[in-house]
Amino acid sequence: MELKVNQDNCLGCGVCVIACPVNAAISPENAGGNGAKTEEVIMMVENGFIKLFSTDKCEECGTCQMFCPVNAIWLE
Ligand code: SF4
Ligand code: SF4
Repeated sequence: MELKVNQDNCLGCGVCVIACPVNAAISPENAGGNGAKTEEVIMMVENGFIKLFSTDKCEECGTCQMFCPVNAIWLE
């Protein structure tokens, strides 16, 4: 499966970024809502939209998809 995003639908809320357990392990400041500080994370919000970075680290758990309120991130 592959991680996909649709920036047109994204609200920039950052919920997926915080909910992702892999992101939390790579960039603990995520958990405080401060946003990732490194592009080593799978994805982060940049300029108000979700952007993918190190997608090879995705473990396909589906948590981001489950939490996104507008289905702007999903596994395909
Ligand atoms: S599927 Fe899981 S590991 Fe992959 S980006 Fe979403 S929350 Fe993170
Ligand atoms: S993809 Fe969904 S959960 Fe993630 S920042 Fe965009 S709207 Fe929020």
